[in-house]
Amino acid sequence: MGNKMSFIESRNLVHEYKRHDENGNIEQVNRAVDDVSISVEQGDFVAILGHNGSGKSTFAKHLNSILLPTEGTVWVNGMETRDEDHLWDIRQTAGMVFQNPDNQIIASVIEEDVGFGPENLGVPTEEIWHRVETALKAVGMYEYRTHSPNKLSGGQKQRIAIAGIMAMKPKCIILDEPTAMLDPNGRKEVISTVRKLNKEENVTIILITHYMDEVINADHVYVMDHGKVVMEGTPRTIFKEVETLKKYRLDVPQVTELAYELRKQGMKLPEVVLTKEELVNALTKLEKAEN
Ligand code: ADP
Ligand code: MG
Repeated sequence: MGNKMSFIESRNLVHEYKRHDENGNIEQVNRAVDDVSISVEQGDFVAILGHNGSGKSTFAKHLNSILLPTEGTVWVNGMETRDEDHLWDIRQTAGMVFQNPDNQIIASVIEEDVGFGPENLGVPTEEIWHRVETALKAVGMYEYRTHSPNKLSGGQKQRIAIAGIMAMKPKCIILDEPTAMLDPNGRKEVISTVRKLNKEENVTIILITHYMDEVINADHVYVMDHGKVVMEGTPRTIFKEVETLKKYRLDVPQVTELAYELRKQGMKLPEVVLTKEELVNALTKLEKAEN
């Protein structure tokens, strides 16, 4: 076959939820994912954006065989998700972190919780402790290892959940709105942890979110609406399209919006501004030019 398969790839993926009546006849069909083709290379940081109900979670659940395609195909590291023989291999390759940290923590001591995944995989005890230590250090929670998870903040709990996935040594972590239930500090902790794992451990990241400021560091962004990919590109090319994003009920980061409004008023600013630093630099340059 001519074209090389990516590390994670969905090709023309369709997912339909079907509702049945009391006689077992299909009463209603909801096409939640509609012809989605996405390629992710190993080590990429990919973000998927979209308003509520756009199909993000349904798509994510295809990446580790929680759901199987109605039509189309998904491959994870060359394994087709429909192939039952590869179920555990796929789940170990692509770990999933969900929205609610409270539903993901099971043990009453943090280090036991993080060790639960590798233990289930049959990893030898010595190796489990080594992995727990490495994972807790990677998310900056090592000093809490003997604590109970109960008193942690939401951000800390989510970092423990990420450590639990890391301890299974996945090549990829999929995070489905991991910051939706967190305060701004918790959100920052989780996003910087995710970036660090990507940069330092070369873990492939697929981050699903509707917070625009969380995707400015992504290599590639997909925007979903009504089950379809409607925009695709780098954060810089995506955030240029302020009006299009609004159509999909998404906001650009505050600083991008501000720069966009100033540019509309006639100020000579760059076409896209993603960070405060960029805006300050651009404004300083303007001022120098005027003097
Ligand atoms: P998002 O994560 O972007 O909010 P979802 O994938 O959760 O979107 O939902 C996409 C569509 O699929 C929505 O219309 C939603 O109501 C529907 N949906 C999600 N889960 C189910 C389910 N288990 N059964 C039936 N419909 C569902
Ligand atoms: Mg969702």
